[in-house]
Amino acid sequence: MKKKINFQLILIAMIAVFSTMALVAAICYDLFKKQIMEDLKTYAHLLEDTDALSDLMEKKYDSKKDKVRITVVDENGDVLYESDADAEKMDNHANRPEIIQTFAEGEGQAVRRSSTMGKSTFYYAIRIEDGNVIRVAKEADSIWSIFAGALPAIIAMMVLIILFCVAVAHVLTKILIEPIEKVARNVEHLDALETYEELAPFVATIKNQHENILKNAGMRQEFTANVSHELKTPLTSILGYSELIESGMASDQDVVRFARKIHHNSNRLLTLINDVIRLSELDVVDREEPFEMLNLSEIARTCVNMLQINAENHEVILLFRGITCMVRSEKQMLEELVYNLCDNAIRYNNKGGRVMVTVEPIDGKAVLTVADTGIGIPKEHQERIFERFYRVDKSRSKSTGGTGLGLAIVKHIVAKNEAEMKLESEVGKGTRISVAFACAENEKV
Ligand code: ATP
Ligand code: MG
Repeated sequence: MKKKINFQLILIAMIAVFSTMALVAAICYDLFKKQIMEDLKTYAHLLEDTDALSDLMEKKYDSKKDKVRITVVDENGDVLYESDADAEKMDNHANRPEIIQTFAEGEGQAVRRSSTMGKSTFYYAIRIEDGNVIRVAKEADSIWSIFAGALPAIIAMMVLIILFCVAVAHVLTKILIEPIEKVARNVEHLDALETYEELAPFVATIKNQHENILKNAGMRQEFTANVSHELKTPLTSILGYSELIESGMASDQDVVRFARKIHHNSNRLLTLINDVIRLSELDVVDREEPFEMLNLSEIARTCVNMLQINAENHEVILLFRGITCMVRSEKQMLEELVYNLCDNAIRYNNKGGRVMVTVEPIDGKAVLTVADTGIGIPKEHQERIFERFYRVDKSRSKSTGGTGLGLAIVKHIVAKNEAEMKLESEVGKGTRISVAFACAENEKV
C-alpha cells in the first residue's frame, strides 16, 4: 500500500513537473521569438529610414560583428546584396516564405532550422519604397537547445520533488493505516475508537461481525449446556432404575415396570441425540442440497398415514386432503417437516380433537397447512417456540416426550427450502401452521 501511494504520488509529481516545465519553456520561447522578431523589425526599419543601407552596400558590412545578416532582394527575388556572402552567387529568393509574405503584405517573417545543430535562424523582411525587399536575419538557440539547457535544473527539481513525495507518502500512509491497525488491535472496544469518516462503514461491519461471532459463541454454549442438561435427565433415570434391578431388591412386577421406564428413557435419549445430529447437519450453510422434484401431497399423505396410530392413541382425528403439488426439495426434509408439524398438532391437542392436513396450490405456491383444534399457543410464546429447547409448558411437553427441538428443525428446513412459514394460534381454540413452497410445476425435471 505504502509503495503504491509512493509510486502514484511520484508519478503525479513527475507528470506535473514535466508538463509545467514544457509549458513554461514553450511560453518563454514564444516570448523570446517575439523579442528577436521585434529587434529584427527595428533593424529593418532603421535600414529603411536612414542612409545606412546604401553605406552598407558600398562598404560591405561585417556581419560577424553582431551576428546580424542583411539581404536585399529585388522585385523578382534576385539577391542584390548579401552581408554574409557574395550576392551574385545566391539563388533566387522569390519562393522563400518571408519574401512571399512581404511581396503580398509589405512585411514578412519566418523561422527556419539552421545548418548548425540546435540553432534556428529568424528572418524579418520589409518592402522599401523602391520596391526592393530588405531582409534581416539572426541566428539564435532553438527551443530544444533552450530546453536542454534547462534540463539539469529540471532533474534537480525532480529529485527534490521525489524526496518530498516519499516523505509525504510516508506521512499519508501512516495517517491512513494507523487507525486500521488500531481497529484490528481493539476489536473489543470499537465504540471508543476514533477513526476517520471513510473508515466508519468498515468499522461498523467489523463490529457487527464481532458481535455476531460473540452471539453465535454464546448460542452454541447455551445449546451445549441445554443438550447436556436434557441428556442428563433420562440418563439419571435409566441409571437409577437399572441400579434398583441390579441390587435384586425389586420384585418381578417392579422389574417389568422399571424395564419399561428404562425403555422409555432410552427412546427419549435416542430421539434427542438424533434431533441434535439433525440440527447440526442442517446448520451447515454451504452444503449443496441434492434437491429433486417431489410431490408434496404424496409425501404428506404417507406421513399422515404413518401417524394415524399415534393420533388414535391420543384420541385425535387426523385428516388429510391434498392436490398434487410439485416442489423442488429433498424427501427426508419434507418428511421431517410434515412429521414434526403433525406430531405437535396431535401431541398438543385435546381428546376428541381434530388435525387437518392440507396440501394445495395457493397464489402459485405449494402450501402445506397443518391445523389443529388443540390447546393453542399464547401470543407471547409464538415467536419463541422455534428456538431450540423452547417449550411453552415444560411439564406437558416433557410428559409427552418433547425436547423442544422439533420446531427448530422445522425452521431450518423452511429456510433451506426458501419457503415461507406462517403461524396462527389462539389459546383454547387451536393452531394453524402453513408453509408455502415455490411451485415447481412448470420447471423442467
Ligand atoms: P420435540 O418436537 O423436539 O419432540 P416439542 O414438541 O416440545 O419437542 P417443538 O416441536 O419445537 O418441541 O415445539 C415447541 C413448543 O411449542 C412445544 O413444546 C409446545 O409448547 C409448543 N407447540 C408446538 N406446536 C404446538 C401446537 N400445535 N399447539 C400448541 N402448542 C404447540
Ligand atoms: Mg414437536
